[in-house]
Amino acid sequence: MSVGNTNKGPVPLIGLEIHAQLSTQSKLFCPCSADYFSAAPNSLTCPVCLGYPGTLPSLNRRAVELALRVALALGADVKPTFAFDRKHYFYPDLPKGYQITQARRPLALGGRLTFHGEHGQRTVNVRELHLEEDAGKLIHRPGCTLVDLNRAGVALLEIVTEPELRSPGEAKECLRALRTLLRHLRVSSGDMEKGALRCDANVSLSAGGATLGTKTEIKNMNSTRAVERALSAEAARQRELLSRGERVEEETYGWDEDRGTVVLQRTKQQAAQYRYFPEPDLPPVRLSPEFLQKVKREMPELPWVRRERWRREWGLGDREADSLLSDPERAEYFERVVAGGVSPPRAANWILTELLRLWTDGGAPVPAGAMADLINAVETGEISRTKGKQLLERAATTDADLTQLLSGDEVQKIVDRETLAKLAQEAIEAKLQAAEDYRSGRTQALGVLVGQAMKRSHGRADAAQLAELLRELLDSPSSPEA
Ligand code: ADP
Ligand code: MG
Ligand code: ZN
Repeated sequence: MSVGNTNKGPVPLIGLEIHAQLSTQSKLFCPCSADYFSAAPNSLTCPVCLGYPGTLPSLNRRAVELALRVALALGADVKPTFAFDRKHYFYPDLPKGYQITQARRPLALGGRLTFHGEHGQRTVNVRELHLEEDAGKLIHRPGCTLVDLNRAGVALLEIVTEPELRSPGEAKECLRALRTLLRHLRVSSGDMEKGALRCDANVSLSAGGATLGTKTEIKNMNSTRAVERALSAEAARQRELLSRGERVEEETYGWDEDRGTVVLQRTKQQAAQYRYFPEPDLPPVRLSPEFLQKVKREMPELPWVRRERWRREWGLGDREADSLLSDPERAEYFERVVAGGVSPPRAANWILTELLRLWTDGGAPVPAGAMADLINAVETGEISRTKGKQLLERAATTDADLTQLLSGDEVQKIVDRETLAKLAQEAIEAKLQAAEDYRSGRTQALGVLVGQAMKRSHGRADAAQLAELLRELLDSPSSPEA
């Protein structure tokens, strides 16, 4: 079903070029460690990634495996033979003077990604997927620029979509769905703030019909939200130009998050001439059927398959599922809590409301088994929900152990009849009207009294036992009149 454009103006069409850093141990063409995030500058380099003449690149097998997982998951046409090209440009963070990428014979062509956007379920076609090496980093200081080549040569997977996304919000949803996929496939951390996932967004305005408008490209957004904001700002800028009868020029912009504006980086005249040619040091790669079979065998469960399984078997809603799936650690955790005997919607509720606040950097603050025990204790009335939250908070923020807290004195049930009777009496005194109501035949008022006594026990009393005691007290003719 297509969504009509009701306000008649030109509509944005958006295509994304997404670069994901592959979670390989070493770089794409040399044995240097790819774990550059906190390494000392220029400590992870060798003659290959420093671009010394006479050195030879050799392709990282693992990078191919990870890239193929994504290609297969997207249903792309995996090429039996793929090849690399040199893309030339001169920049201090690229010591060879060219980047090894894939231009003519990429790893895979086509494919599609289905995701849940603002207009329901949407599918975007993928144009191609290819491998390439990352460049180093420039660090600008007052008066000088420093070069760190630790990132030079790190493996990237580039995924290019067709220009089919129809709003900035949809582009954000698409990028999020792709990030979820990359994480589930254990292919990339997908962490945009750390630069492990980067997105160049292309946008044009179209009056509809087959002809596309002139596009501009925006770079440097470091969150999915920033991609949406940048595209909205750029679409507005283009709309403004067109409404004044001016033309959109093919240009590249950066995104200034603080000011909320796009900043011109280069015009078409300044566009680089890359002079692509086949990389002579790397022969074309033939994929053996056995290699492809191995990749297929090792494929983790796809996020949309898991989502469907949760819906079908556990009746889990889409919003809960999407939130739990956005991080595979969270999804695993949820399944372990369910395995601990908790009903899935209840587990989802506790995780998404109580636990998420306490959850930093993908780490669950308490073991899933203990979490299941806690939820079950609340469900059986052994402890109150408030008490449960308090214990959880304590376990998460101190070195207290949740299992120990749960078996500790303060959560032990009150079984002593005398203590219970005292609680019941106190409840009656605190809720005289409810007691009155009960005595005059409105027996449902008993619930108020049970609740009051329960609260006074901090959730440690048994509701059924309290109700029985309250009935005894209220029904007995000798009980003191209020
Ligand atoms: P270029 O040759 O300028 O790099 P490509 O055709 O390779 O352009 O496309 C690069 C990206 O730009 C792709 O993600 C594609 O979907 C997107 N794109 C291409 N044309 C348009 C357009 N008219 N409007 C929006 N996005 C576009
Ligand atoms: Mg291009
Ligand atoms: Zn190296």
